[in-house]
Amino acid sequence: MPAALPALDEFNRFFWTSGADGQLRLLRCGACRAWLHPPGPVCPRCQSHDVSPQVVSGLATVEAVTVNHQAWTPALAEPYAIARVTLDEDPGIRLTTRILGMPAADVAIGQRVKVRFVAADDVHLPCFEPV
Ligand SMILES: [Zn+2]
Repeated sequence: MPAALPALDEFNRFFWTSGADGQLRLLRCGACRAWLHPPGPVCPRCQSHDVSPQVVSGLATVEAVTVNHQAWTPALAEPYAIARVTLDEDPGIRLTTRILGMPAADVAIGQRVKVRFVAADDVHLPCFEPV
């Protein structure tokens, strides 16, 4: 159980609940085809309002990682790896996430990972694990 869950709103609800069917989704602009994150009502590249959630592969690469040795809450067993990952669909899209399924100390920059959702209430947190 994560310590704190994101506050859902009309723009981000699809993102935080997308994992209910095991798929990660991001907004994509129907006009210029750009992927958008974090979610919002307008494409920041072309100002189109034609944006909608689309399924992505869930594949990503670790761009930065830190290993946390402080158990900030009882829910987080230390040590754990917090990483910034870039998504295959657009390396400009970055998610800050936890890396699961491998020793935290072994997570390295360049590690290939795939999304793995951690469910809490109706939120499905997109975490990642080694491919
Ligand atoms: Zn656009």
